[in-house]
Amino acid sequence: MTETTSTTGTGLLAGKRILVAGVTHPSSIGYAVAEFAQQQGATVIISNFGRALRITERIAKRLPETPPVIELDVTDPDHLETLPDKLAEHVDGLDGVVHSIAFGNPETLLGGKFMDGPWEDVAQAVQVSAYSLKALAAACRPAMTDGGSIVGLTFDASQAWPAYDWMGVAKAALESTSRYVARDLGAEGIRVNLVAAGPLRTIAAKAIPGFTDLEEMWATRAPLGWDNDDAVPTARAVGALLSDLFPATTGEIVHVDGGFHAMGA
Ligand code: NAP
Repeated sequence: MTETTSTTGTGLLAGKRILVAGVTHPSSIGYAVAEFAQQQGATVIISNFGRALRITERIAKRLPETPPVIELDVTDPDHLETLPDKLAEHVDGLDGVVHSIAFGNPETLLGGKFMDGPWEDVAQAVQVSAYSLKALAAACRPAMTDGGSIVGLTFDASQAWPAYDWMGVAKAALESTSRYVARDLGAEGIRVNLVAAGPLRTIAAKAIPGFTDLEEMWATRAPLGWDNDDAVPTARAVGALLSDLFPATTGEIVHVDGGFHAMGA
């Protein structure tokens, strides 16, 4: 595991108010981002939805400081509409938003079912995993009065993968959505970028039948190697994009994959 240094109050994200949406478990990339952001001095709010909300409330206590947990289903118009009010109970504005959310029905869409995936499930995957970036950005926009940074997580959608199937299509939609949101919010000083992470053993990844084959191949082909259990490098990249270190970068995708994407074989 990559080690991080605790610099609460004086770090890279000191004074930043950040919403991390999509934290279910300590293995969640969102959890690693929330932890790193707190270590770097940010005030963090985390969110999740439905039955897993109780789990999120429990695991929030393991973070360096227990953050407020708010309920946010990115497909629920009421949740999106009331988000600014819920945020205002804890912070007087937002500087950063992390979209760490995806869903595709593993039984119908993933693991070699591409040619049979039904539209209703594809529509749900695209709504939860891609359209939601626009929905979340629109909901948070009123709180981002001083500009800020929105960062999402993708799995490189520039090529077809084994097993990933319709989630790959949803990620292609996410990557395009991030460019359009970057275009429309740039004038307000809001940057929108994605981190393309290599495979990490999270709940979402474990639900994809056949994803382990990809994980094994990754570790051998990535020039820097790859640890499927270490979300810290990914969290650090998200943290850097949330910080003031990239003031002129938007609509970008930063690969944090051990260099896998750059190798032909
Ligand atoms: P994760 O821990 O399962 O996180 C996914 C989160 O999305 C969960 O908190 C999940 O909540 C939430 N979610 C699903 N539907 C939602 C909805 N309608 N409204 C709000 N939240 C919803 O898995 P993860 O791997 O960390 O995924 C985080 C992001 O990283 C995703 O975009 C994923 O595609 C991306 N990513 C993952 C990998 C990887 O290998 N793990 C690689 C590259 C990119 P529930 O748990 O309650 O369903």
